[in-house]
Amino acid sequence: MAHPSVTPEDVDLLKTAIGERHVSTGTSNLDLHSKDESYHEPHRPDVVVWPQKTEDVAAVVKLASDRGYAVTPWCAGTSLEGNPIPVEGGIVLDFREMNRILEIREKDLQVDVEVGIQYRDLNNQLRHRGLFFPPDPGAWACIGGMIGNNASGVRTVAYGATRDCVLALEVVMADGEVLHLGSRAIKSSSGYDLLRLMVGSEGTLGIATRATLRLRGLPPEYLTVVSTFPSIHDACEAVSDTIRYGLNPAALELMDRAVVAEINRDQKMSLEEAPMLFLEFHNVNESALESQFELVDGVLREHKAIKIERGIGTDERARLWEVRHAALESIKRNHPGKAVLLVDTCVPISRYAEMVDRANEAVAREGAIGFFWGHAGDGNLHIGLAYDPKDTAAKEVVQRVNRAVVEHSLAVGGTCTGEHGVGIGKLPFVAQEHGAALEYMRRIKKALDPKGILNPGKMLPDL
Ligand SMILES: Cc1cc2nc3c(=O)[nH]c(=O)nc-3n(C[C@H](O)[C@H](O)[C@H](O)COP(=O)(O)OP(=O)(O)OC[C@H]3O[C@@H](n4cnc5c(N)ncnc54)[C@H](O)[C@@H]3O)c2cc1C
Repeated sequence: MAHPSVTPEDVDLLKTAIGERHVSTGTSNLDLHSKDESYHEPHRPDVVVWPQKTEDVAAVVKLASDRGYAVTPWCAGTSLEGNPIPVEGGIVLDFREMNRILEIREKDLQVDVEVGIQYRDLNNQLRHRGLFFPPDPGAWACIGGMIGNNASGVRTVAYGATRDCVLALEVVMADGEVLHLGSRAIKSSSGYDLLRLMVGSEGTLGIATRATLRLRGLPPEYLTVVSTFPSIHDACEAVSDTIRYGLNPAALELMDRAVVAEINRDQKMSLEEAPMLFLEFHNVNESALESQFELVDGVLREHKAIKIERGIGTDERARLWEVRHAALESIKRNHPGKAVLLVDTCVPISRYAEMVDRANEAVAREGAIGFFWGHAGDGNLHIGLAYDPKDTAAKEVVQRVNRAVVEHSLAVGGTCTGEHGVGIGKLPFVAQEHGAALEYMRRIKKALDPKGILNPGKMLPDL
């Protein structure tokens, strides 16, 4: 569906409605909102608007609906599948000035926020009250973008993804009406679950402005364990047993030798360069952690662990998580001039080792350069495929590897995206994954956004 360009008269209308300072057609602002952190082609919007309140969002969407303009919500732009790229131009709504904490209800373990707040800033505020918001994608993501993509991260294995931690949303619908979805209760059997439908819909069904988030108490004690293995296969085999024996890791991350080497080189670290599992446990006291560790130690040794390191201090632990989160950036910095296609698939954990093996074969077969890591405890694999963006053949090579890994993941009961969303990059796979359900998804989209103005070109192919 083609959408018209925003006219100069309507830019003036937006300036009058939202305030001149909060509307821009400047080239640098259009460029900044033309690309995310993915390898996908940039595309400029016609105008960027920084709403200050829900009413501003409703006014912009109402105008877009009247004129048929595309309107794409934007938070930090750290997506990895082109999710916020305004491929049909129009209006980008940048939420970063709607970033207030509205209310913290300590006793309920809940917080109300505007969606432009970065989750790290939120956690810095919550720490002093012994609380935290668990989803942890690593980048400087905002709550609105995490809701858009149903982001997860290193703690999802224990605490769930963003969808599991959102209790209520204020949402501007495609005609400008403001809805309140969900409640403050932590469970409900009432009505169709529009709240959960909105989370992960990449701004294609409605635009979130405020959220009530479910928090957790900061654990009294932590234990971090770093374990190396003779092969990546052995490391992966240890994952399923760690979960199956009820050891409840709060994080269970995989890195292959090549990723550890990239981190060492970029971050001046001296981690042992071997396939590695990186585990964390949360518990009430040290003796409980000690019992947990004895069991974990046994499982890791059964799977040929070479070295099991524990007793990592607070500062070192923070540094380890920091460098783990920055793995993608380390790879990019170490390979200037290269683009990175980041594979993101997820399978049942019993099939994790097999998927990693098949992926390694695909990388070798195609002669690609692949760096493997992932949220192994969730069955989620990432492969950073570095290539020369000016070389069409090289781009085709990494796309073939991506396709092979995604198709294997679907064949064993997995999904084409564990956490990065469909965006542009996963559009070719959703028909295969969802079959007849795709038509029902199209009907939902048509019912909620009949003019197709919300983040067009994403999530559903051929709309
Ligand atoms: C180094 C690095 C590491 C990463 N690691 C992880 C990881 O471990 N786990 C993970 O899940 N992701 C990860 N990501 C991807 C990314 O950080 C997440 O997808 C994150 O949720 C994007 O948030 P954002 O604020 O940047 O949103 P954006 O990229 O700005 O937007 C994301 C999507 O949400 C939509 N959106 C934005 N605002 C709203 C709104 N108000 N209402 C409705 N929809 C909206 C956008 O249109 C877009 O479709 C990583 C990215 C990088 C660069």
